Amino acid sequence: MNLTGKKIVVIGMGKTGIAAARFFGKQGAKVIVTDEQPVDKWGAEFEQIAKEKWLEIGTYNARILTGACIVVPSPGVPPHNDLLVEALKKNIPVISEIEMAYRFLKVPVIAVTGTNGKTTTTTLLGEILQYSGKKTFVGGNIGNPLIEYVEGSQKDDFIVAEISSFQLQWIDKFRPFIAVLLNITCDHINYHGSFAEYRRIKTRVFANQTKADFAILNAADPEQKEIDRIINAQAIKFSSKRVLQEGIFIKKNNIVFRMPGAPGAKEEQYPLDIINLPGLHNVENVMAAIMAARFCGCSRENIIAAVSAFRGLPHRIEFAGEKNSIKFYDDSKGTNVGSVERALETFDQPVILLLGGRDKDGDFETLRPLLKTKTKKVILFGEARERIASLIGQDTPLVKKNKLKEAVESAYQDAQSDDVILLSPGCASFDEFANYKERGNFFKEVVRNL
Ligand code: ADP
Repeated sequence: MNLTGKKIVVIGMGKTGIAAARFFGKQGAKVIVTDEQPVDKWGAEFEQIAKEKWLEIGTYNARILTGACIVVPSPGVPPHNDLLVEALKKNIPVISEIEMAYRFLKVPVIAVTGTNGKTTTTTLLGEILQYSGKKTFVGGNIGNPLIEYVEGSQKDDFIVAEISSFQLQWIDKFRPFIAVLLNITCDHINYHGSFAEYRRIKTRVFANQTKADFAILNAADPEQKEIDRIINAQAIKFSSKRVLQEGIFIKKNNIVFRMPGAPGAKEEQYPLDIINLPGLHNVENVMAAIMAARFCGCSRENIIAAVSAFRGLPHRIEFAGEKNSIKFYDDSKGTNVGSVERALETFDQPVILLLGGRDKDGDFETLRPLLKTKTKKVILFGEARERIASLIGQDTPLVKKNKLKEAVESAYQDAQSDDVILLSPGCASFDEFANYKERGNFFKEVVRNL
């Protein structure tokens, strides 16, 4: 694709927007960048490219679209954004950074998407591939954007890319040779407008695949039931609930992988106890990663070694300390109701749950049955506390606190030996923190100081 002399408008000056602008500039394009925030808030990374001749800062209004051939929104820019709507009205192609990157990519891509488990699965798969001696770049929605990668020598065997719904919204030809869809539960409704639209966007990861590609699906996810109809790739499923004719599932103490092919096809076993991560949801992540790794030619032995060595990521049901036989867990990355459910299912002991933050229109009423059976108390905190209180009912005692620190202290006061205090907020962190990492680290600090 030749970008020389083309006018490209980049909306949103976050990490991805800046990486995209830089790439287009190096390709000889005339780049106009813009953001809702004033320029002085665009950050240090922008300052590095601000002196380039090819770059222009555009005002945040429709005038900057005049003469543009392509508009590239950053992942955080919602589809109802005025500039985007205007660009579509003017029939200017809107494409995401991963779509642009794809057009320059020479290395096969494995795309991992889903509401939850993307980062864990992407990271694990990257580690399995690297352990197996395959040169691998891990990036996309985590680490470095794909557009940055295409500037380099592209000498890897594989790319493992975490892909969000925001990025899938504006693809056109993006075609991963393996696409993993882990699960679809309610999230980002305030961005996509409805759950149906969110689900539709998620399935776009398969849209350009052919028979030569692989689609990895979750047989136990009710939202994926109808999906086979739209898939051209070889579909292969994982299930944490039942035995499958073909695909990967749990049987007694093992994960069993029945390779696709004729009946009685080859079967492999992976002991469940190689997994050092909490919960059945993480078994699902591991199963998806095993299948993808096998399709990339990794051996069972290498997969077992790499899975055994993987200890999970911070802020995902991470053990955060123990005081007077009360255990604390940091699941600050649990920013939607689906992840709160999975976190609660992980524990056999009574849980005091810290829930709250900035609401994303979460469907908190669906938590009711689990709250009843798993929690002895729920401490609601942050901006969302009143709305959550109105949705989760009165089956479990509730306390409302303004800030996270008060919530942790209140939970500790009420807790008894062998209880678990779990921060799994089901909300974004932005009412009190810069991001989920800052929230999780703050939680751990409060726990240390109790
Ligand atoms: P993502 O990148 O999709 O946000 P993460 O791996 O960062 O996924 O995990 C985010 C949250 O989702 C954490 O609370 C984690 O415990 C939970 N989680 C991880 N894997 C799954 C899964 N397969 N199903 C449901 N929840 C999951």
